[in-house]
Amino acid sequence: MNYIGPDNIITKRQEYFFPATAHFYKDPPQIVGGSMQYLFDHNDKKYVDFFAGVSVMNCGHSNPEILEDTIKQLNNIQHTTTVYLTQPMVELAQKLAEVLPGDIKRTFFCVTGSEANEGAMALARLYTKKNGFIALTGGLHGRTHLTLSVTGIPMWRLDDHLVKENIFFIERPYSADLSYEEAMEKSLQQLDAVLKTHGNNICAMLVEPIQGNGGIIMYPRDYLKKVKTLLEAHDVLLIVDEVQTGYGRTGKMFCIEHYDVVPDIIVTAKALGNGIPISTFSTTDEIAKAYSRPSASTFGGNPVAAQTALSVLHYIEKNNLVEKSNELGKYLKQKLEQISSPFIHEIRGCGLMLGMQIQSQNQSVTSAEITDMILEEMKNRGFIIGKNGLNRDVVAFQPPLVISKGDIDTMTANLQEVLKQIV
Ligand code: PMP
Repeated sequence: MNYIGPDNIITKRQEYFFPATAHFYKDPPQIVGGSMQYLFDHNDKKYVDFFAGVSVMNCGHSNPEILEDTIKQLNNIQHTTTVYLTQPMVELAQKLAEVLPGDIKRTFFCVTGSEANEGAMALARLYTKKNGFIALTGGLHGRTHLTLSVTGIPMWRLDDHLVKENIFFIERPYSADLSYEEAMEKSLQQLDAVLKTHGNNICAMLVEPIQGNGGIIMYPRDYLKKVKTLLEAHDVLLIVDEVQTGYGRTGKMFCIEHYDVVPDIIVTAKALGNGIPISTFSTTDEIAKAYSRPSASTFGGNPVAAQTALSVLHYIEKNNLVEKSNELGKYLKQKLEQISSPFIHEIRGCGLMLGMQIQSQNQSVTSAEITDMILEEMKNRGFIIGKNGLNRDVVAFQPPLVISKGDIDTMTANLQEVLKQIV
């Protein structure tokens, strides 16, 4: 392949993409290859991937075992229509019923996370016959009309385009100025107040069990239980958006299990297809009945995507990736906590979804600028790490779950050196 190189790609993006296009890095690599936890650029430089495309590639890049199944399916039949009887889609639905929490059993297949959240929101309206939604500040749920309207990250919101009526934001249980307990109490009080005044017209609350783009924000362990109790008193459903947290990412199959809560509707995407687009919203027998039109989309759960997803679930089980994520997550967290730097304010998250809150120590440089310096220098040293947070000042670690202890050791040793260089 004749690679055109990063500069030409940037020029073409600036010319042909929408002007608001963004990319990481001052000097970004052209990524041309991937193999498990590694990425390769057009100069054949190898990077250890500690971001996995925002938790997409849980089973690693171009995983040969999964690809074999995908390619076999591509050769058999690519697609007809999901209305015809094909086997992978039903086998996947059955397998999901086995791994999903509680009595969540029925699945509607879609293609993207946004589409699945939008479907979940429609289902909540149909079931409750109510209309409004509650969401948390700092949450991200997608780019479609409703999902963007419940997205609480200002940099994503297309303000003139959003639904405002009957959308209620409450503060997430995290604030730089409050303890976790105080922030949780504040959030619960706001939820209680909204439910008391508007509960009659609210159908559901959407939450990510750990906010991803919002800055790797995990809530106090009893927060969602208290939320669920308040919601139930007003017949309001809980929709859990596991698009970024699902399929082993946080050391449990689904992150909601950390909170010991069973939601009414659960939404998944990204890692289910390990790079092949597929998403789901799943619910109980009773709630699913409310969706009174045929549950099919053109590509949702097509044979290639469904067979790949089956293979992903099989690979996760066979290789104990959920347990591995838990163990390696603890190891990574410990290693990150051992790094000494005045810029590290907090390490948070769980499993292999960890965030490092950066805090500047003087006026001449912002926390976001320090975060960018860390990312750039780590990339130069062969490590791709992420960033997120409302102020873009959280370094994010979300590697493929097939990462090794050795990769963690070399990455954290390099990170310590990089942080020392920043003054
Ligand atoms: N929910 C969450 C938690 C996400 O992280 C994202 C994507 N970053 C979405 C929904 C939207 O998913 P998609 O881009 O596949 O529409």
